[in-house]
Amino acid sequence: MPIIVLRDGESAGEIETKLAEAGAEYRRLTIYNKHIIVAWPDDKVRQAGIDAEPTVQTVMYTRTPYMLTSRDFIERSSFKVGRAELGSQDLVIVAGPCAVESEDQMLEVARELKACGVHAIRGGAFKPRTSPYSFQGLGEEGLKILAKTRDETGLPVATEVMDTRLVDLAARYVDILWIGARNSQNFFLLREVGRTRKPVLIKRGFGMLIDELLLAAEYVILEGNDKVAVIERGIRTFEKSTRFTLDIAAIPVIKKKSHLPVIVDPSHPAGTRDYVEPLALAAIAAGADGLMIEVHPYPEKAKSDKEQQLTPREFKDLMQKIRRLAEVLGRRIP
Ligand code: PEP
Ligand code: MN
Repeated sequence: MPIIVLRDGESAGEIETKLAEAGAEYRRLTIYNKHIIVAWPDDKVRQAGIDAEPTVQTVMYTRTPYMLTSRDFIERSSFKVGRAELGSQDLVIVAGPCAVESEDQMLEVARELKACGVHAIRGGAFKPRTSPYSFQGLGEEGLKILAKTRDETGLPVATEVMDTRLVDLAARYVDILWIGARNSQNFFLLREVGRTRKPVLIKRGFGMLIDELLLAAEYVILEGNDKVAVIERGIRTFEKSTRFTLDIAAIPVIKKKSHLPVIVDPSHPAGTRDYVEPLALAAIAAGADGLMIEVHPYPEKAKSDKEQQLTPREFKDLMQKIRRLAEVLGRRIP
């Protein structure tokens, strides 16, 4: 699939005319510091004969269906998460409760997490619950608490967006948006977060192939948002001893196929706090660029995912091990 790299951001009019005349679809973008036109399908782009146009630097033909996500396009991508650069040698730690439950809960846990050196705080304001009778999240009130948490700690805050109608609202309050596992093939939602310029983390759906995850990322990038990372959070297999099966192999596979940073969420596959530490350490050993870990000031009182959330004390111990391992692997924790 072709990506047309332009010499500058101007004067692509002639190329666009030719593509349109050939019946090709195209999108002009400035992403990853490149001015490009993404055009498809292949045969119509070839027919347009734009290779010799003076404004064209090169026409890249990627070998995968996800041209913007693939390493044929760029080798590695990265973006800032607070003081760290996700996708570089930095190891980025995002932690916080499953759900925002109250201002006290968030501020208390956030202070402890900050002391442990995390780079961003997470908290769900809209919760995707299997049962409609379970706690659904505080909604906009939760977003306000997240904004306050950022103001108090100086750390960026992240939350899940479940619906296109909530994207602008969430983007007004928080710094990082994530797409939950149940929504990562909601293509309207992916496009909508792509239209924001906030970093977007896409969780792998538990029945989703790696190629499908990369195509989900493609939807976001095609809207012009180049701050995209994916999160491996476990898939469904026949094994019932853990909540989901963490696909450790997905880490090197994604890093081979795409330039995107890879985060691992060890909490949801573990399902119980005993397994969070080994999964977190395994993820780092396998090359993850970051971790997203659930931590609650009082897990036994949590309104969702109480079995798997670490106490601040447990998290502190885990951070010490993470730091030791990072050092061995030559990863920096800024
Ligand atoms: C969560 O992060 O709290 C969550 C609901 O995760 P997932 O979408 O991966 O199930
Ligand atoms: Mn959760």
